[in-house]
Amino acid sequence: MASQICKLDQVLRRAFARCKTTLIMGPPGGGKGTISKKLIKDFHFHHVSAGDLLRHQVRVGTPHGIQARTYMESGTLVPDDLVLEMFMNEVSKLTSSRVLLDGFPRTSVQATALDKECHVDIAINLSLPNEEIVRRISSRWIHSPSGRTYAYDYNPPKVEGQDDVTGEPLVQRDDDKPEAVRARLQEYDKQTRPLLDFYKAKGCLHEFDGTGFPDLVAKDRRSDAIYLSLKPFMEASLAT
Ligand code: AMP
Repeated sequence: MASQICKLDQVLRRAFARCKTTLIMGPPGGGKGTISKKLIKDFHFHHVSAGDLLRHQVRVGTPHGIQARTYMESGTLVPDDLVLEMFMNEVSKLTSSRVLLDGFPRTSVQATALDKECHVDIAINLSLPNEEIVRRISSRWIHSPSGRTYAYDYNPPKVEGQDDVTGEPLVQRDDDKPEAVRARLQEYDKQTRPLLDFYKAKGCLHEFDGTGFPDLVAKDRRSDAIYLSLKPFMEASLAT
């Protein structure tokens, strides 16, 4: 573990020396994926998602994936050494000057490793009450081959249980099932929420919850509501 963190140090030092680094944080199901897509489109971020990287390893069946799978299915965090090594491989490929880290760091060990090598310019926190998250995530189903995602409460498929394009069956990710969501929220409160204070103390934490736009929130377009205030904030922040 110590040697992995040391290798991470070297790779991160090179990669982040040229980067403007933004973190997207918040509870699982708080909209990080949706907001990240909007940010990538508008600001051309290089997006590194720890969850996507782990799911890829699981799908491909690598030794990391086989190890990670049990943790992900039970709604707990994957051990730091594994996540740090995987993350290091991805970061070593970075070429963009704008990096968006999604779902990393999630523990104080990860935050400390990152903090040693990189100045975090902006930490965005998307906040949402836990009970709302359980409702939202459990309504999410996906078409595995394409990654198309549906939400039964605001973006349902045309035919229940079927992908709009191919008609193939939709599945619920194991980690989207209600029991896994509750376990992840408990883990989030214990391991990740304290990192908000860490970034607040550094003066780079910015909170967004979309409540300033009640009409959009009422229509369950919370990510649109958040983005109405997040986009001008990012324009101003990245211009400096
Ligand atoms: P996400 O798609 O970001 O919600 O991540 C899905 C799952 O991957 C989480 O429930 C964790 O089991 C695992 N995971 C993602 N990011 C991390 C991380 N930084 N550290 C440990 N486990 C992670």
